[in-house]
Amino acid sequence: MPFELKPLPYAFDALEPYIDAKTMEIHHDKHHAAYVNNLNAALAQHPEYQSWSLEKLATAYDQLPADIAQKVRNNAGGDSNHTFFWQLMGPKGGGLPHDKMLAAIKKEFTNFETFQAQFNEAAKTVFGSGWAWLCRDKEGRLRITTTPNQDSPLKQDMHPILGLDVWEHAYYLKYQNRRPDYIQAWWHVINWGFVEDCLEL
Ligand code: MN
Repeated sequence: MPFELKPLPYAFDALEPYIDAKTMEIHHDKHHAAYVNNLNAALAQHPEYQSWSLEKLATAYDQLPADIAQKVRNNAGGDSNHTFFWQLMGPKGGGLPHDKMLAAIKKEFTNFETFQAQFNEAAKTVFGSGWAWLCRDKEGRLRITTTPNQDSPLKQDMHPILGLDVWEHAYYLKYQNRRPDYIQAWWHVINWGFVEDCLEL
């Protein structure tokens, strides 16, 4: 099969107490794994598309046969979004962004607190399942955006720098209906080194 579930780059309990080990285990080993498996199952019906990159599948799914287009949209997006999400978190994370990232945020949002408040509001108000993102747009400006379901920001010509999964499966075991508490906790596990690398890509 062309796509494989990449291992979590740290232990399940590495993000405790902010994101609990059980949530991480189910999120990676069950939810993320299902996106990869479902993507492979869809492509098995039309093997001529197995050579497409994950990014191409997540953005050009409308060029695929109608019987797999929506499945590929959901599951290539799910694989791409989650692989990115695991990397932008880590143990001993949080705090302020590093120098270049902080400067880029200040340039667009005046200060980190204003950026954080706007990002939080976007994440809180995603209706149902989806993601909040900090992206660079085609003009090179930083933008806060959201996507529904597992849609990739790449489809909107947005280059993701930071992203937050606000599906209930990302927080329900520990936070139940309290999405705002999960969002607040998540800032403590951000791997700003990775985020800054994404800024410079
Ligand atoms: Mn998820």
